[in-house]
Amino acid sequence: MIIRQRLALCRQALEKTAAKAGVSSSITLVAVTKGVALPLIYEAIDCGVTNIGENRIQETLLKYAALNEYAQTKGYRLKWHMVGHLQTNKVKDAVKIFDLIHSVDSVRLASEINRHAINSGKVQDILLQVNVSGEHTKFGFIPEAVLESAGEIAALKGLRLKGLMTIAPFLRRKEETRPFFRQLKELKDKINRQIPTPLTVLSMGMTNDYKVAIEEGANVVRIGTAIFGERREDDSE
Ligand SMILES: *Cc1c(COP(=O)(O)O)cnc(C)c1O
Repeated sequence: MIIRQRLALCRQALEKTAAKAGVSSSITLVAVTKGVALPLIYEAIDCGVTNIGENRIQETLLKYAALNEYAQTKGYRLKWHMVGHLQTNKVKDAVKIFDLIHSVDSVRLASEINRHAINSGKVQDILLQVNVSGEHTKFGFIPEAVLESAGEIAALKGLRLKGLMTIAPFLRRKEETRPFFRQLKELKDKINRQIPTPLTVLSMGMTNDYKVAIEEGANVVRIGTAIFGERREDDSE
């Protein structure tokens, strides 16, 4: 199947799921392009994809200029999403490149992003990544810690804290991912009782589980495989 068809199926599924669940249909589809070659991403841009998700700084730097230029010839401006673990020594580049960093997983990382953002005169949009499943292989705040730290992070002048992100465990029975998404939504509601500017973004749902995530209130989904096919090596984290 070609990208155009896969994307159309994906978009249809997003809309249908949102309509059926009675949730807002303004859902941002982030096309996750890690490990995907440029010509395939050009095809996606031809189909109107403007939100690009990457998980490594090095790889993003290799694609960034070419994709931006290509999109510009089509009259689009790309929005870049960092969805992978971010090391503090890569923060400077990340602040230069990304419109939204989904993967802020510690107060220390948030302060480092804040520092570089202020230095470069930018206010950096961020999400806090939460490890709701408690799996040791996953990055992210534990839920109690995010409740404790959200206020402090939201007060940093170089940051705009927009919401929360999570990666659910990969489960064959997709229905079993539901409690993790529900927990993230509840956490957002709890935080919003504590901070002055409410969080609005819930980045949750990937190829395997995006329908369930939308039913539970996701307004950003991050989809790679369903658009571009299987990656040669699975380097999701
Ligand atoms: C790779 C990745 C995705 C996309 O995963 P698919 O299963 O290919 O849709 C989404 N989010 C994160 C954080 C990823 O690393």
